[in-house]
Amino acid sequence: MSGGSKEFLKEYRTKRDFDRTREPFGAESGRGQTPEPIFVIQKHDASNLHYDFRLEIDGLLKSWAIPKGPSLNPKEKRLAIPTEDHPLEYAQFEGVIPEDEYGGGTVMIWDAGTINPVKEDHSLAEEYKEGHIEVWLKGNKLEGGYALIRTGKGKDAKWLLIKMDDDKADARRNPVNSEPKSVKSGRTLKEIKKKESS
Ligand code: MN
Repeated sequence: MSGGSKEFLKEYRTKRDFDRTREPFGAESGRGQTPEPIFVIQKHDASNLHYDFRLEIDGLLKSWAIPKGPSLNPKEKRLAIPTEDHPLEYAQFEGVIPEDEYGGGTVMIWDAGTINPVKEDHSLAEEYKEGHIEVWLKGNKLEGGYALIRTGKGKDAKWLLIKMDDDKADARRNPVNSEPKSVKSGRTLKEIKKKESS
């Protein structure tokens, strides 16, 4: 799609040995099957359990690792560590990455859906560059407005994921604990690991 797509595939592909991992190699371009951009949150039981939060922006998945996962409470800011861009096909990936490979461990599609920008006059790509993204998520577990805000610069850049204070905010609900299974297969991490390893 854009000139940037080859660069993102380069970093993504360099980190991985596709003879060993079943993660997608990734197409050079293209976009999802839905008219709206997609998001996915992958629960990833690697050396540290975390939630990979990915938003479709400009034909690829901009990605952050969120150690605690998303919150529905607008008062809770969740640290989101930027990671390399992933190809769109990654949103379909659920399975086991071999232990000695990059990101080794079990990956579950914890939530998935589509996104709408909140600011009509801004593209998501512009918001990403500015370090302030606002999206309306329409997922199975998460719904409503979320803001991703960058603080700091360069290598010290950190992002925060914050639930916006709308009618979908709910400080009592915590799907990270109460809804631990895959929205794709209904499986737990253990079940995915067992199936894929056997
Ligand atoms: Mn990860």
